Amino acid sequence: MKAAIFKGKGRIEIEERPKPAIKEATDAVVRVVRSCVCGSDLWYYRGIAPHPVGPIGHEFIGVVEEVGARVASIKPGDFVITPFAFSDGTCPNCAHGFHTACLHGGFFGGGDDGMGCQAEYVRVPQADGTLATAPGSDFSDEVLASLLTLSDVMGTGYHAAVSAEVKEGDTVAVVGDGAVGLSGVLSAKLLGAKRIIALSRHADRQRLAREFGATDILEERGDAAIEAIKKLTGGIGVDAVLECVGTDEANQTAFAVARAGSVVGRVGVPHEVAIDAVGTFFRNVGMRGGPAPVRAYIDKLLPAVLDGRINPGKVFDFVTGLDGIAEAYAAMDERRAIKSLLKVSDLK
Ligand SMILES: [Zn+2]
Ligand SMILES: [Zn+2]
Repeated sequence: MKAAIFKGKGRIEIEERPKPAIKEATDAVVRVVRSCVCGSDLWYYRGIAPHPVGPIGHEFIGVVEEVGARVASIKPGDFVITPFAFSDGTCPNCAHGFHTACLHGGFFGGGDDGMGCQAEYVRVPQADGTLATAPGSDFSDEVLASLLTLSDVMGTGYHAAVSAEVKEGDTVAVVGDGAVGLSGVLSAKLLGAKRIIALSRHADRQRLAREFGATDILEERGDAAIEAIKKLTGGIGVDAVLECVGTDEANQTAFAVARAGSVVGRVGVPHEVAIDAVGTFFRNVGMRGGPAPVRAYIDKLLPAVLDGRINPGKVFDFVTGLDGIAEAYAAMDERRAIKSLLKVSDLK
């Protein structure tokens, strides 16, 4: 099969690799229909975070090809959405809704055992707990793109909003205008936020943020952004903050604009972040979030996609095939694209 191979900083190429086979009785092998490039893949591509030379990618949807002897709820031919982390769905951490802390779980994204997801086939461990089936067998390109976001970005944005305890009528600030931040705007809207302040300085992202429900767009950053948000909220700050970047500056902004008693929901992986323990203490500001248990949110978000209430697939503004992988990364790296979608195979 064809698979995208990370060859080192700035180099992604397609190579022939053996098609993955069932390794454990709880595995499934899935034919990939759509895959995509994640913002976190860019950390490797830019040489900022380490990644082994080899297969890469952790977001995809597809059709089940084969299942192991102990797989009960998933069968060949099922159309499935795959979260970026696999999980058994039954351990105490899964039962509490934190599938990314599954005692028998782990993450897709590489290795030589068929778990790089920018490829024609993927081996899925813990198939019963990991895979979510979608009803129907005939989805438009538009719906497929939205279903693909449930694999990571939409579930991650939703986790930021849930962690920040967004509720009806809230004023919310979203720090970060990547695909996750934009999904955070959409999630805040879905949870009933009345005013959504998005921080963005790119015209294409601003447009989508507005379409997803942002009421105010601020181009300022750092202290200027803090000042602008304070000004918009009568000096008080917002009811909930979604931190979708992970840099120190984004975190400083997020905690500074959170009003007394509110929560910062963070989904950006922290890179050298120092949070002010004393300042947040005296303002009773909370902090939640982490790797999104996207599996926990699929059941809630899937109907919203299927009935057209949300269309998170709009974050994909660059589409190519698996052979166009180098360009898919380059387009995101050069900010020509918000997020790149890979059409790997047809649904049928
Ligand atoms: Zn991702
Ligand atoms: Zn578990």
